[in-house]
Amino acid sequence: MTAKIIDGQKIAEGILSKLKDKAKKYDEKPGLAIVLVGNNPASEIYVGLKEKKANSLGFHCERFNLPEDVKQDELLNIVDDLNQNKKIHAMIVQLPLPKHIDENMVIDSILPHKDADGFTPVNLGNLVNDDNRLLPATARASMELIKSTGVELKGKNAVVVGRSNIVGKPTALLLLQENATVTICHSKTKNLENYTKQADILVVACGKAKLVTKNMVKKGAVVIDVGINKVQGKIVGDVDFDSVKEVAGYITPVPKGVGPMTIAMLLDNTLQAMELHKKIKF
Ligand code: NAD
Repeated sequence: MTAKIIDGQKIAEGILSKLKDKAKKYDEKPGLAIVLVGNNPASEIYVGLKEKKANSLGFHCERFNLPEDVKQDELLNIVDDLNQNKKIHAMIVQLPLPKHIDENMVIDSILPHKDADGFTPVNLGNLVNDDNRLLPATARASMELIKSTGVELKGKNAVVVGRSNIVGKPTALLLLQENATVTICHSKTKNLENYTKQADILVVACGKAKLVTKNMVKKGAVVIDVGINKVQGKIVGDVDFDSVKEVAGYITPVPKGVGPMTIAMLLDNTLQAMELHKKIKF
């Protein structure tokens, strides 16, 4: 068996094209602010891609590059200004932040209805409550790619490897909303393969290059590889694509899988945030 490849790039392009048309119908441009602290090379690449796509859709995009040693108060002041800025409907503060900055405090200072990444406690709480107002972009991206296969989720075994607040946990909650039976595995899980082998749907987001191999995957499973790892100058996922594609039913590649979909979902969140602003009147 050879898995069908889920073409994240193509699916994302389709979503972005619809988003561009939808945005044109409004009398103002969806406004996205991107805040980058320091010179983390991976973050610089992600931020550059997000900015480029936002501009290509005709969004209003403002980028703030702050030095690695920026004071936390300075960063909080910038977030506060963006909270008040009428042209900005949504913002992201690119993670990770330098060690001297309290990441949770910065995220918590973003107004929930301007939270393009869906990381604020209010939006994560909304998700627990099955209220999908602004969802974490990568979790949304993973779900869209799973749904693109047409595989029914109700009653299926879904296993998520990774329990981060930005990927693993929200993805598990979204799978639960679809009535899958969800297991979350993490770095302290013993005998990981005992769980992954049961998975009809397997989402891997652990940041360990090629951790999931062929012998850990159920025949016909939908495999979503969120991981982005650099190995000998090459980007690889958390799944050993070449061996796993021999057993899986569907699989996302890295790159061109979850990555481009995450950007599409971030921009869709930006438009949703603008729509929320119109309803909220503040
Ligand atoms: P994280 O480091 O915050 O969390 C990693 C999780 O994996 C933790 O919960 C940890 O317990 C678990 N884990 C680590 N080693 C494990 C192991 N051996 N077995 C089982 N579980 C293990 O990472 P994150 O922010 O959730 O990101 C995960 C990966 O996804 C990274 O490679 C990151 O670069 C990538 N990522 C990709 C996108 C995208 O758009 N494609 C977006 C966000 C993150």
